[in-house]
Amino acid sequence: MEPLSYSELREQVVQAAQRLAQTGVLSRSGHGNMSVRLPGKDLMLITSTSHIAHLLPEQLVAVTFDGEVVEGELDPVTREIIGMHACVYRERQDVHAVIHTHSPRVTSFALANQPLPCVYEAFLRFGIVEDIPVADWAPRGSQESITNIVAQLRAHPLVPAVLLGNHGLLSFSRDILAAAQLIVIMEEAAEMTLDARSIGGEKPFPADALERERQHMQRFGSLS
Ligand SMILES: [Zn+2]
Repeated sequence: MEPLSYSELREQVVQAAQRLAQTGVLSRSGHGNMSVRLPGKDLMLITSTSHIAHLLPEQLVAVTFDGEVVEGELDPVTREIIGMHACVYRERQDVHAVIHTHSPRVTSFALANQPLPCVYEAFLRFGIVEDIPVADWAPRGSQESITNIVAQLRAHPLVPAVLLGNHGLLSFSRDILAAAQLIVIMEEAAEMTLDARSIGGEKPFPADALERERQHMQRFGSLS
């Protein structure tokens, strides 16, 4: 498949932002930031606004993983979050898109410093078979906060998301629409898990659930 052009990538990020806004998974402020990996060495397109609910294609800036601007103009708030996105691309070669939001139900788990339990069927379809871990809090943009995220990425090499203690979440995937969809599913899971706790609490999957799910999806041709 041909790689997407810059303008196609910009359009796709805008579409993903709209999906987040339309599904109601952004916090009330509409805060968030998004990036996609660019072809070439250590490059990404990243949002230059912290309010993504009405994102425009021109609000994406091309930067290196070290924060050097290649195209566009960066505001100081965005400069802070470059390391948070870059560390995921550096750790996970298969990741091509990263999104950060304060999605309220998922962030409730982050505020409680509790992993988001893997108990919802939709997680299995994303290949998630373990709880979404929490990276310890440290000031936003600090080296310490990045070190804490990287520690969780290394401890859980298969999870496509990390909760940020007392802060929010990071979701990452092969493309930006998949990263957005994962946030929708995590927010659903968090909401339903909290509700389940009022009627006795969530229950774990059987141990062989992922394998059974895979077999089922293969049979129906929905697993590539
Ligand atoms: Zn944040």
